[in-house]
Amino acid sequence: MPRYTAPLDDMRFAFYDMLGGDTLLAGLPGGEAIGRELIDAVINEAARFNEQVLAPLNQRGDQEGCRFDKDTASVHTPDGFRQAYAQYVEGGWAGLTAPEAYGGQGLPHAIGVLVKEMIDSANLAWGTYPLLSQGAVDALLAHGEDWQRDVFLKPLVEGRWTGTMCLTEPQAGSDLGLLKTRAEPQEDGSYRIAGTKIFITAGEHDLTDNIVHLVLARLPDAPAGSRGISMFIVPKFRVDRAGAMGQRNAVSAGAIEHKMGLKGSATCVMNFDGAEGFLIGKPHKGLTAMFTMMNAARLAVGIQGLGLIERAFQNSLDYCRERLQMRALSGAVAPDRPADPIIVHPDVRRMLLTQRAFAEGGRALVLHTALQADIEERASDESQRQRASEVLGFLIPICKALLTEAAVECTYHALQTYGGHGYIAEHGMEQFARDARITTLYEGTTGIQALDLLGRKVMQLNGAGLRHVLDDIAGFCQRYATDEAMGALVGPLAVHAKTWGEITQELGRRAAKNPDEIGAAATDYLFYSGYIVLAWIWARSVTALPDSSLGESARQAKRDTAHFYFQRILPRTHTHLAAMRSGLDGIPAMS
Ligand SMILES: Cc1cc2nc3c(=O)[nH]c(=O)nc-3n(C[C@H](O)[C@H](O)[C@H](O)COP(=O)(O)OP(=O)(O)OC[C@H]3O[C@@H](n4cnc5c(N)ncnc54)[C@H](O)[C@@H]3O)c2cc1C
Repeated sequence: MPRYTAPLDDMRFAFYDMLGGDTLLAGLPGGEAIGRELIDAVINEAARFNEQVLAPLNQRGDQEGCRFDKDTASVHTPDGFRQAYAQYVEGGWAGLTAPEAYGGQGLPHAIGVLVKEMIDSANLAWGTYPLLSQGAVDALLAHGEDWQRDVFLKPLVEGRWTGTMCLTEPQAGSDLGLLKTRAEPQEDGSYRIAGTKIFITAGEHDLTDNIVHLVLARLPDAPAGSRGISMFIVPKFRVDRAGAMGQRNAVSAGAIEHKMGLKGSATCVMNFDGAEGFLIGKPHKGLTAMFTMMNAARLAVGIQGLGLIERAFQNSLDYCRERLQMRALSGAVAPDRPADPIIVHPDVRRMLLTQRAFAEGGRALVLHTALQADIEERASDESQRQRASEVLGFLIPICKALLTEAAVECTYHALQTYGGHGYIAEHGMEQFARDARITTLYEGTTGIQALDLLGRKVMQLNGAGLRHVLDDIAGFCQRYATDEAMGALVGPLAVHAKTWGEITQELGRRAAKNPDEIGAAATDYLFYSGYIVLAWIWARSVTALPDSSLGESARQAKRDTAHFYFQRILPRTHTHLAAMRSGLDGIPAMS
C-alpha cells in the first residue's frame, strides 16, 4: 500500500517562512488569535487523522468502489468511509473555515487549504463527499434568505448533512445555457423541480442523514441561454422552515457511473420528479450565485491535483532510493550492492524532480492564492480587498488547470519510476494516475479554464489581475537585481515577465480582428502564464531559505529543485509562445 506522511515541514516553510501567512492573517481584522501555535495544532492533528484514518482506506475504496441498490435507489460507500466520516465530523473538520455564527470555527481559507491538501493526498475519493458542502455554504451565505441560512447552514457546517452542485445535464456540460431542468412556482412560495442531472458527485450516499442539492433550473418565464438560469435548494428529505426534517423529497439517484478512477466517490444520475425546492438569490440570476461557489470549488480541484502529486512523489522517491537496477554511467555509486539504486540515473531524477517541483511549488502557489481569498474577505481597506480579489480571480484558473494537468503528468512519472510494477495495482501507483485524470475535467475542463483566464480575466476585465501579478514580479526582480546568488533565477524571470506583457498585448490586437484568436491561444496562454507564476514562486522560495526553519539538506533540495525548474520546466514556455504566435492560422478549420 502506498504510504502517506503529511509534508508538515514543507507546509510550514511555504506558509510561515516564504509567504509570511501567519503574520499576514494575524494582521487582518478578526485574525488576532491566529498564530503559529494555533496553526501547528490544526495541521498536526489533521496529519494524524489523514495518515491514520483516511490514507489506509484509499486503496480499498478504489478496489471496492460504490454500490448502487436499484430497489432502494441508495448508494453504499466503500467499507470504512462511513466511520471515517463520523470521525471527521466529531473532530470538527467540517466547519473549520465556516462562520462561527453557524457552528464553524471561522478559520481563514489558507488554513483550510493546508488541511484540504492532506485529505486529497490521503484519499481523494473520500474527500469528494464533504467537498461540495463548502460551495453550498458559500452560496447560502451570499445569496440565501434568512430562514434558508437558519435551516440549512448549521447541519452543513457541522457535517451532519452534505451538499452537492447539480449543474450538468446530458446536453449541458461546459455550456450551462443549454440546461432544461424546470422549476414551477407554487402558491406557498416553493418550487417544483423536474429534470435529470448527470455526473453529480455525492448525489446519493450513506454518510449523512440528509443531502442538500443546489440545483440550476429554469423558471417558466426564463429567457433562453445562461441569462435564464436560477438556483434552487432541494433537500433529499424535506425540511420545514423551523428546520425539522420531514418526508423524502421527490429526488433520487437513478444510477451511479462506472468510471476510470475516483471509484470510491459516488457519481450519480439524479432524477428530480417535481421535488420541492426553494429559490436562492434572484430569479434568473443562478449563474451569479454559482460563481460564488466557483472560485472555491475550482481552487479545491487544483488542490486535489496537488494532493495527488505529493503522495505519488513520496512513494516514487522511496522506491527510487531502494530499487537497484544497472550502474550509473560514470561508474558504480553503490559498489557493495549488486546494482545502483535507480535514483542515480539522471532520467529517473528528471521524473522525481518534476514531481517535487510541482508538489512544493504548487503548494506555495495555492497557499498564496488562498491568502488572497482571506485578504479579499477580511481586509478593512477597500483597495486592498479589491486588489486581492483581482489577483484571486486571475490565479484561480491557473491553479486549477496547471496543477491538475501537472497531476496527470506527475502521477504518470511516479508510475514510470516503478517500471512495470507501477502498472500493477498492488503498489497503488496506477490508482493515482487514474484518479488524477478527472481533475482536468470537472469544475470546468482545462480548455474552459483557459478561456476564463484569457477571454474573461485578461481581455474582458482589462487584465487587472495580470497587472498586479506582473507588478509583484517586477518588484521582486528589482529587489534581487544585484543579488549575485539569485542572478540565474531573477534574470530569466524578468525576461519572461516582459514577454508575458508583450504577448498579452499582441493577442489583444489579434482578438480585436478575430475573436477566434482567443480560443486558438487560450490553453497555451494558460500554461505559459502558469509556468511563469511558478517560476516566481520558486525564486521566492529560494530567497526565503536563509531565515527558514528547514535543515541544510532540505534547503539544498529546495535550491536544487529551483535550479531544475528554471533549467528544465520553465523552457516549456518557448513552445507555448511559438504556438500562440502561430495563431489561428496554425489551427486549420476541420469539416
Ligand atoms: C466524475 C465526475 C464528477 C462530476 N461531478 C459533477 C458535479 O458534482 N456536478 C456537476 O454539475 N457536474 C459534475 N461533473 C460534470 C463535469 O463538470 C462536466 O463533465 C464538465 O464540465 C465537462 O462537461 P461535458 O462532460 O459535457 O463536456 P463538454 O462540455 O461536452 O466538452 C467536451 C470538450 O469540448 C471542450 N469545449 C467545450 N466548449 C468549449 C469551448 N467553448 N471552447 C473550447 N473548448 C470547449 C471541452 O474542453 C472538452 O474538452 C462531473 C463529471 C465527472 C466525470
